[in-house]
Parts: sequence; C-alpha cells; structure tokens
Amino acid sequence: MTPTVTYSPITPAMRTLLLCVLTAAACSPPVTTAPVAASRPVSVLPNQGPDAPAVPMTAATTPPSGDTAGYWQQRADYAIVATLDDTRGVVSAQGTLRYTNNSPDTLRELWLHQHLNAFRPGSRWSATDEREGRTRFQALRDPDYAYERFARAPSVNGVPLVVTYPLAPDSTVVHLALPAPLVPGQSVTVDLAWDARASTLARRQGRRGRSVDMAQWYPKVAVYDRHGWKPNALVPAGEFHGEFGTFDVTMVVAQDQVIGATGVPVSGDPGWARVAAPGYTPNLRANAYRDVPDSPVVTLSTGQRAVRFYARDVHHFAWSASPGFRYEGGTYVRAAQPGAYRFAAWDTVAVHVLYRGDAESDCALAAAAADRAQRARVRDGCVASSRTQWENGRALTFGLTTQRWLEQMFGTYPYPQLTILKRIDGGGTEFPMMMQNGSASQGLVTHEGGHVYAYGILGSNEWQSGWMDEGLTSYQTSMQTGNTRSAVSAEIAASKPTHPDTIVNTQLAARALSLRNTARARNTAVMSDRAEPIGTRADLFRDFSMYNAMVYGRAAAMYESLHDAMGDSAFRAFLRDYYARWAFRHVDRWAMQATAERAAGVSLDWFFAQWVDGVGVVDYELRNPVVEQTDSGWRTSVTLVRRGTYRHPMPVGVRTSEGWTVVRGDAMKDELRVTLTTHEKPAMLWLDPFAATDVLRPGSVPLP
Ligand SMILES: [Zn+2]
Repeated sequence: MTPTVTYSPITPAMRTLLLCVLTAAACSPPVTTAPVAASRPVSVLPNQGPDAPAVPMTAATTPPSGDTAGYWQQRADYAIVATLDDTRGVVSAQGTLRYTNNSPDTLRELWLHQHLNAFRPGSRWSATDEREGRTRFQALRDPDYAYERFARAPSVNGVPLVVTYPLAPDSTVVHLALPAPLVPGQSVTVDLAWDARASTLARRQGRRGRSVDMAQWYPKVAVYDRHGWKPNALVPAGEFHGEFGTFDVTMVVAQDQVIGATGVPVSGDPGWARVAAPGYTPNLRANAYRDVPDSPVVTLSTGQRAVRFYARDVHHFAWSASPGFRYEGGTYVRAAQPGAYRFAAWDTVAVHVLYRGDAESDCALAAAAADRAQRARVRDGCVASSRTQWENGRALTFGLTTQRWLEQMFGTYPYPQLTILKRIDGGGTEFPMMMQNGSASQGLVTHEGGHVYAYGILGSNEWQSGWMDEGLTSYQTSMQTGNTRSAVSAEIAASKPTHPDTIVNTQLAARALSLRNTARARNTAVMSDRAEPIGTRADLFRDFSMYNAMVYGRAAAMYESLHDAMGDSAFRAFLRDYYARWAFRHVDRWAMQATAERAAGVSLDWFFAQWVDGVGVVDYELRNPVVEQTDSGWRTSVTLVRRGTYRHPMPVGVRTSEGWTVVRGDAMKDELRVTLTTHEKPAMLWLDPFAATDVLRPGSVPLP
C-alpha cells in the first residue's frame, strides 16, 4: 500500500519545519534528553508503528512467482560535487538525485534519510542509547556532533519542495512532497544542496584531526518496495538498505588529502601514488567503465584539487580522506574466467589498501583523549590497529585471500575494485566496493568482504532482516576457518571415533567442544526466554545486545543448521544460485528460501518458519531400541521422537567393529522408526554421534 500526502499549501507549522531545514541554528536539537516526541503523528511513517509487522509475513521484494520473474526495483542515480573543509570537518555538497519509479504505483512523495543526524543530541539513536544506559552522542556539543542539513530546500525544476521531518527532533527521516505525481516508468530529478559533518566520537563514521570517514553522508532516498516506503529512523540496532544506481561523485579536497572511496577514480588524483609504500604502484582502473559522462565543471581555490569517483550498480557511496594515509595495493587475478552472469565482471580486481602512515602522530591524538594511566596502552594499540597490522602487504594479502574465498563461495565479484581502509572507529563497516575497518585481520576482512556480497551486491535490508546479512557473513567467515559444525562434524566422522565423547585429536576435540558449548549457550538462551525471532525488525528487538546476539550468533546458527539439513553440496549450490539470481537486486526471506528449496529439491518452509519467525530448540529422543540378527548381518531399529519445537533431520548412528553407520530422520515426522543395517553386531547407538546439530541432548541409548 502506498501512503499519500495531500498537497496542502505551506502552513505555519510547515514553515517552521522548512525554516528548520534552511537554517542551521533553528535545526539544532535540544541538548537535553527529553523523551523523543514527534512533531507530527509517527503513524504517518509507513512500515512503522504498531500496525507494521515485526516479522514480515509477505514478500517485500520477491514477486508472487517466487523467483525474479516480475521483479522490480526503483533506481537512484546520484551526481554530487562535495567540498571538504578539513579544518572544520564539514562537507558542503550539491548535486542531483535522479529517481526512477519502476514500481507499478504512482508516487506523490519521496522519503529520504539524513543518517548523520543520528549522531547528535536529540536523535532517536541518542534516546535509545539513553534508555539502554549508554551515553554517546547525546552528550556531544558543537562542533563535536554530526549533522546533515539542507543548505536550501530540495527542488524539482527550480520549484522548492515541501520538506518535513515527521520524527522531529530526530531528523534522520525526511519527507518530500513531489510537485507532480511520479507515474510508473517516469523519473524525477531532485536538486540537492547540503552540508554534512561527521562526529568526533566515531561510530560507523567519524572525524579526527583532518581525517574524515564519510558514510551515510548524503540525502539517501529510502527504499520503496512491494510493502511501500521503508523510511526507518537510524538507531543503534539495524543498519542500511538502499536503491541501486550510479554514483558520480567529485570530491574537492586539500592538495595533501588521500582518498579511498566506492568506485574508481575516473579523473583527478586520489593521492595514492604520492603515499604508496615502496614497491606498490596503484592500479587506478580509471578506464574500468565505458561511457562515463563528461566531468562536471568545478571551480577550485588555491590549494584544492578535485577527484572524481564513479561507480555503477551500487546502493551507497562511502569515502574516507586523510593526509596520513599510506597506500599499498595489488591486483586480484581470478583463476577462472568470470562466470556467465546477467552482469558485467572484470578479468581482474584492483585491491587498494589505505592505512595510517602517520600512526604515531594520529594515535597521539587518540591517546590524549584517554586517562593518563591508559595513554601508553591506548597509543600502542592504536599504532598496531592503524599501521603494523596492515603494512608490508599484510592487509593486502587478507584482501586477496578474501576475494578468492568469496568468489568460490558466491561467484564472480562484479566490481573493478575493492578498497580496504583504516577508519577512525573500531570494528568495521561494509560498503559497496569498500570496507572501513578499525583494524586489520583475516577474520575482519573476510567478514566485511562477505557483507560486500550479502549487503552490497545482494541488496539485503539490514534493518528488517539483519539475519540475511550479519548471520550469513558471520557464518561464511566461520566456514573460511573451518570452524563450523559441518566441517568439524565431517572431521570427527573421518576420525572414526570408538566413542563420540573421546576424540583422539585434541585440537579437533577442542573445536568440537567449543561449538557444543556455543550451542548449549544458545539453547539455554531460548529456554530462559532470552531469545527472539531472528526475523524481527532490528529496532523491535528488546535491546541492542539482544539484536546482536540474534542477528549474528543465532542467525549464524540458522545457516549452520540449514547447511546440515541440506547437505554440503546442496548448501554450496544454494549460495551460488542465490548470488547468480539475485545479485544487484533486493533480497528478502522469500528470495532466499525459494533458492534454497531449488537447491535442496524439497520444501524448506518448515525450516525458515521455525528459524526466522520463531524461537525454539532442537530436542529429539531415541526410544525402544531393538537389535535383530538377519541373514546378512544386523538390523537396529529405534524410535526417534521430537520433543522440542524445532524440527531437524536428526542423524542417528550405530557403531560396530567396522565403524559407524549413520542415517537421518525425516524432519517432518514427529515420531518415526529409524532402521540401521550393519554387517557386524552394533555396540553403540547414538543420537547425533558426530555433533552435527544443535540438539539439546545428544548421546547414546543403551542397546538391549
Ligand atoms: Zn557485520
């Protein structure tokens, strides 16, 4: 359903809001932390409020075909010129958003995000922090907090649009009334001019000294899908979602700035060659795209230069600039030619790494903000995470290894470059073609690289379905290190243990124990009411820690169980087909489920329903074993009974002097008789002998 807004003339109340748009002072939110009150009823926001389902029950993007036939998505093309004043940390930008309505609906409005406004007092983010006992952006004062403000009202053909902030004082969600209905198949070009500033307290963006990490820094159009608009306020739980398009972004920066960004530098100098470590020559890939439009005319002041980055098929454009960056880079050459896809791919991928060559002086700034007793420790940790973990090709090797791994898991990487850069904040955040990381390790680069696929190329809605993104990339990261139930269980089976509780290989035993303890903790969380459905919309989880536990750990367990239920080759085929079918499209649970079902050859509705919509444990029991001697050997039969709410094709095994024989139960049966035939007399009967599942009580039953 498409909500509509009538075209009333500008009322005094609207004028106040518009004034708030146009003048920075009027827009400053209160410094106090009064409960967030909307200046208009919150119910005007589509897809939110009590009527919006916490877990969607119908497809948001997948067509009724269950496949891509009949699929549509909107298109958002940005052309931006952004000037960085690195002494104030302010970006002044202007440009256009060309928005194309590919939906079957006539649109009378646009919803935008100004996400940087989350990182300031008065935002819903700050209110959530306060409610959950954190103090961050609520306490920041000018000039430390972040903001994004229109310098003048957005316009279409010179006509200013009516702008409202329905969640004021939160200003991460913006409503624009269009001057004329936007009918299916038509485009509208919105002229934009705005100022953006990152916060000095870094969180998924930030600035320190003359360095900036600019993410979610421009008026970003919300996604419109079969459920309508998705204009969510930015709060700590939940991330991003965007419309695919082309980004043509020219950055005007000081001569000594070095830039890393989404896209390729098609003109101007990003500064890499000047700061390249010995032995590294930047591979700009400036000609990666054909038919790039002419450069915009940019007037430069003394000491400035312009660098233009261009990117196609991306739904976000992030960038970082620092005079302290040092460059290392290389070229990823894939072993096989790109697969046959709907989309273009390059023979090679340039991998760019930017870390802090000025770590000592930059980290002195970080240390100065710490307690005196902690300064040396803070400085040393900062230098390690800024430079030593990265230099001499270390981070580059992480990137090349990640590219190889992810192409093997999903398929050919469809962009000409990948940038891995050191950001001010810790942790890491994914963007199309790049990641901003606080440190460098193989695990972090694999995790964020996995997001480049699961969020960037497969357009996951991280806000609604964090499990499809964080869960999947967490699981593939575990797969890379071999620390998954599937891998460990296969190794246990190959070791032919005489008793499942006594694995001779101590390393393998330790890995198995670690996985079992994690599963035990997950089951305990469910049984003590400390779990919520992983399909819950991010902002509706009980709190930030519950969100994290569910969309990372529990969601990874879902993929672990899916891997076990489908079998290894079907699970891998599912990931590759999911990627080939849905790359550069918005995915939802139905897209994923249909692809998994295609690979498995059976319905998996029961699996996705229990894991995504509900919580529960896998709890089965073996009863009434019978052992009989037959003409050809032995037949063991036992009743497999489901006790928990979750279903799973449980493995049941017997060991004889010849080793183990394992069969699987039928997940759809609550009680069934399982039969195992062996040459030799069974000595042991086990439920899940090789620790392949999360089952609550694995173990043996005495044989008669
Ligand atoms: Zn992540």
